Amino acid sequence: MKKITVRLLALVLSCVCSMSLLPAGMLVGSAAVKTPIKTKGTIYTEKEIATCRTNVKKYNWASATKNSYCASADKMIANGIDFYYLLMSSNEVWRSYYVSETNGCPNCGLDVYDYGNKYNIDFVNKPFKITCPACSMVFPTNDFESYYKSGLDEHYVFNPQKANKQYLKNVSYPEKGEYWGVDDGTGVVIGGTRYTVIGWYTNQAWSHIYGVLNTLKFAYLYSGEQKYATFGIAILSRIADLYPTMDPYYEKLYKEFVASNGGNAGYGKIKGRIDEAVYFGLFADAYDAFFYGFNEMAEKTSQEVYSFLQKRSPFIIKTTDDIKINIEQNLILQCYPNILLRNICGNMGY
Ligand SMILES: [Zn+2]
Repeated sequence: MKKITVRLLALVLSCVCSMSLLPAGMLVGSAAVKTPIKTKGTIYTEKEIATCRTNVKKYNWASATKNSYCASADKMIANGIDFYYLLMSSNEVWRSYYVSETNGCPNCGLDVYDYGNKYNIDFVNKPFKITCPACSMVFPTNDFESYYKSGLDEHYVFNPQKANKQYLKNVSYPEKGEYWGVDDGTGVVIGGTRYTVIGWYTNQAWSHIYGVLNTLKFAYLYSGEQKYATFGIAILSRIADLYPTMDPYYEKLYKEFVASNGGNAGYGKIKGRIDEAVYFGLFADAYDAFFYGFNEMAEKTSQEVYSFLQKRSPFIIKTTDDIKINIEQNLILQCYPNILLRNICGNMGY
């Protein structure tokens, strides 16, 4: 019953969001929250952060660690915040942790098992494409990136009804037929078998995002450079924008969409409920690590990313406190109710 009520609320919210902006703390159906709850860093205290940055100046091993995180984080920032917001797709772009659990690759079948049933991905240079390591064929065969972008609203929420169907044609291997290997997000269907190509790509994209968030977190903690906090806060805010409406209901429509949910289809949020337990710790950890970076979020050096975040959020973000409220109400405080709903349910030890 509780699960149905929360899903109903999420549905109502997604409808309301598409019509008008809501205050950042208004999600759970009650009056809008006007003040952030968190007042200081508690996982990473000011004293600990100061010690860390002193050590970076003092010891080679510490500065080498800092340099390593910052070099990786700089490459991520160079991709631009728009790139990552597009990668963090809304619930309507489904997730799956196999392209096919039992049938392998849409072209070479079980040969891909020699590679762990995993495909190659290059998020930057080959967006929304996966390459089979066994037969080298690239899927999907249609221009899904254009299809996806054509269906986005101003908040980067994907609406398949709005998306341009002209992009649902095989343009990679015309000799195979006009619709062979085409994926509209619900999978490639060949000979009655469904291969969740975009589902797997999206699932991997979310894993990638968590890695990005973790790298930015350490780059900021070690260096204190605002650019890392600004970028990380924008990513965390986007996750909060989407989190309440994330619901893998589609696993009940198509059994080929699978997640780490212990065999119980439909449980989880962004990913399956087992993965969810692992990643939720990162959300709270990152919020704490970036906490002292909110002060400069509205300053000139952060303006471009801050303005982008404000424009894309379905919530009213007028101040940096609104970003904190968004992250707290729509992400951090979603943890406990979703544990009760068994949407967050880790393996033993998590
Ligand atoms: Zn293959």
